[in-house]
Amino acid sequence: MNILTLQDVDFRYGGLMAVSGFSMHIAEGSITSLIGPNGAGKTTVFNLIAGVLRPDKGEIIFQNKPIHRLPPHRIAALGMARTFQNIKLFERLSVKEHLNLAQHLKNESTIFGEIFGLSAAARDKTRRNSKTREILDFLGLSGCADLPAASLPYGLQRRVEFARAIATGARLLLLDEPAAGMNIGETADMTRLIRRIADTGITVLLVEHDMRVVMNISDQVWVINYGQVIASGTPQEVRRNSHVVSAYLGEPEAT
Ligand code: ATP
Repeated sequence: MNILTLQDVDFRYGGLMAVSGFSMHIAEGSITSLIGPNGAGKTTVFNLIAGVLRPDKGEIIFQNKPIHRLPPHRIAALGMARTFQNIKLFERLSVKEHLNLAQHLKNESTIFGEIFGLSAAARDKTRRNSKTREILDFLGLSGCADLPAASLPYGLQRRVEFARAIATGARLLLLDEPAAGMNIGETADMTRLIRRIADTGITVLLVEHDMRVVMNISDQVWVINYGQVIASGTPQEVRRNSHVVSAYLGEPEAT
């Protein structure tokens, strides 16, 4: 089953057609990469999916619901979370607090309940703390739960971003260049982590320039150029596609 479908989507910035007749579908539980040259339209597609931009034409369906007219917070509440190329963590919050905050999206209690300690709020708090511990443990972050997230090394900050996205209860994670700025060891760790996250049933869509990451972990790859899909398939299929080679990858490695 597809968790996300884009159907014939157009988007222009003024006179510039950034995305044109763009169709893509993503199977639930898969890892999918969206790749293409600089300026091809990848970020625009991410922004259209997350509701930051609205398509001029076409449909975007997430978990069987049309989302192309919804604002970003409504789309997030339906089960989508995003990480950014430049890590965006709160200066003063600990790792644990980032995760607790993220879970507020799906809490049942009201602000009055929080203040007066009413039962739904108390239940939420217990559930939140235990979910936070579970996610921290899963991502190997338990040892830094009480440290300010922004004080951690870069690779761990990226992990906190993943943890926060998972804590929202998201079924689809949009990862914008997760390997950007990482060394080889950090990239290998991050790649394993994405695979483990997908193994729990969470679907992952990533934009990534590091072809080792893309070829290693993707179930499906979609290639975009000038706002249009020029190829899609398994990493092996895409690597052999002559349009992709000439537009983006260059000559395939000798094997
Ligand atoms: P990169 O890999 O360099 O991040 P990209 O594939 O993400 O590129 P986009 O950022 O989506 O590409 O850009 C697609 C096209 O839209 C490009 O021609 C770009 O110059 C243009 N564009 C992007 N953002 C804007 C904007 N805010 N206003 C006008 N044009 C824009």
